[in-house]
Amino acid sequence: MSDPAPTQKLVTRFAPSPTGLLHLGHAYSALFAGRLAHAAEGRFILRIEDIDPGRCRPEFEDAIIEDMAWLGLEWTQPVWRQSERMDEYAAALETLKAMDLLYPCFCTRKDIAAEISQAGAAPHLAHDGPDGPVYPGICKSLDAATRVSRIADGEPHALRLDMDAAIARAGTLTWHDRSRGEQTAEPEIFGDVVLARKDVATSYHLAVTVDDAAQGITLVTRGTDLFAATHIHRLLQALLDLDVPEWHHTPLLTNSDGERLAKRDRAFTLRAMREAGTDPDEIWAMAIRQIARGAASANEL
Ligand code: GLU
Repeated sequence: MSDPAPTQKLVTRFAPSPTGLLHLGHAYSALFAGRLAHAAEGRFILRIEDIDPGRCRPEFEDAIIEDMAWLGLEWTQPVWRQSERMDEYAAALETLKAMDLLYPCFCTRKDIAAEISQAGAAPHLAHDGPDGPVYPGICKSLDAATRVSRIADGEPHALRLDMDAAIARAGTLTWHDRSRGEQTAEPEIFGDVVLARKDVATSYHLAVTVDDAAQGITLVTRGTDLFAATHIHRLLQALLDLDVPEWHHTPLLTNSDGERLAKRDRAFTLRAMREAGTDPDEIWAMAIRQIARGAASANEL
C-alpha cells in the first residue's frame, strides 16, 4: 500500500511595517494568524516589512516584538527583515527584466498629474485603480536609446511592470480566498504598477510576493484593505514561477467614527491598553466586539 499523500503543513504570517505602534487591529491580525497555525500544529512567522527607510524606525520594531510577546504569541526564529533582502528582490527584478516585462519610468508625481489632467478629452487614459490614478503610460513609449541615455545621466527612475505584456504571458489566473471563495485575478485594474521605486529598489508588491514564497507561507492572512493587491501578487507568482498560497482577508477594525483604526487612535494601541492594565487574554474578545460594532454601525448607515 502506498503512503498517504503528505499533507501540507500550515504556515501563516504577520507582516507589520514598523512605522508606528501596533493597535487592536494589528493584534487581531496577529492573533488570527498565530492561532490558526497553533491549532493546526503549523508554523507562525513574524516578518518585519521595513523597506521604507523614511517611515520605519527600530523603536517601532522593538515595540512590535514586545507587544506580540505580551499577547502570548510565539513565532518561528529568525525574524526576517525586508531591508536585509534587497538582493532577493533584485534577482526577481532581473527575472522579469529578462522576460522584457519591465520598463524604466522617470516621471515625477507632477508629470503624472499633468498628463492625467490633459487626458480629460481621452478619459480612457485617466482612471483610478485601487492605489490611485492608473499610470497613463508616459514612459512606456520611450525608445531604448532614450532610456539608456537618461539612466546613464543618472536620472532617478522607477521600474514599472508592463501589465498588458505580463497578463498576455501569464494568461487567466485564479486564487482562493477562504472568506470570499474562488477569485479570478484582475491585475489590469492597477495598470503598470511600480515594482521598484525610485528611492528603494523594490516595492511592497514585489517584496511581499517574493518573501511569502521564500518563507513557504501556505495561508496569507491580512486585512481586507489588501484584498485588491492580491490580484498583482497572484500575477507576480505566475511570472516568477512561485508556489501559490491561499488567502484569508479579514475585516478591518474601526473607531467610534466608523473610520479604520489608524496610528492616531492612541487609545487603541496595545501599549496604551497594556499601560491601562488590560489583560492580554481579553484582547481577542475586544477585537471581535469592535468588528461586530463596526459591522452593526455600517448596516445602520
Ligand atoms: N506590511 C503590510 C502592512 O503593514 C502588510 C503586508 C501584508 O500582510 O501583506 O500593512
